[in-house]
Amino acid sequence: MNESAPALTLRLGSDALTRARSHGEVRTHRTLKWRTRAPHPGGLMAPALFGPLHARTSACGTKHPLTALGARCPKCGMEITTRRARRHWSAHLELHAPVAHPLFLRELGQVLGLSTMQLHAVLTGQAAAPWGGRGPQALWDALVEIREGNRELGGAGRAVQRLLDTQGRVVTDLMRWTLPVHPADLRPVLDTRTATLKSDLNDLYRT
Ligand SMILES: [Zn+2]
Repeated sequence: MNESAPALTLRLGSDALTRARSHGEVRTHRTLKWRTRAPHPGGLMAPALFGPLHARTSACGTKHPLTALGARCPKCGMEITTRRARRHWSAHLELHAPVAHPLFLRELGQVLGLSTMQLHAVLTGQAAAPWGGRGPQALWDALVEIREGNRELGGAGRAVQRLLDTQGRVVTDLMRWTLPVHPADLRPVLDTRTATLKSDLNDLYRT
């Protein structure tokens, strides 16, 4: 084991942070048009969101000179960059309903005063929340009340809130209305030379 390796710390993010790091909203789960292999606009491979397919070529198809690197295309507004951007640029999805952060389910339960089983049952719509209301929206509404100071917290919940405080986070950050979408080149689309393009990782972003 390498003793000098830096420690990996996991910190809770937020919807604001996801949107700030994003190059735009993904509006369709589609990747490439299978006939032309061209990316679907607004899709999981779109150059405007994930970087150019060809160096210094912006989303509108204009090829820019070397001196334009870092500037924005006057036509489509996309930042002019190299092909390497596709390994770094990420985008995001806006969700129709909030989701619980999978790594912070225990903390979410503690804040809401629910056991893991209760929490799961409400999240999946199998049971109503003890305070009424069904589904993730009922949990979100309760978090907003806690954040605004209109709802009492138990001991475990207060401990979580103090921890969030030290990280500059609030209880509503335990649920999300956005989902970050990883850079395009980290999600390869395999051309199987059939009518379909194979892309297991991209299928995960389907609703
Ligand atoms: Zn352009």
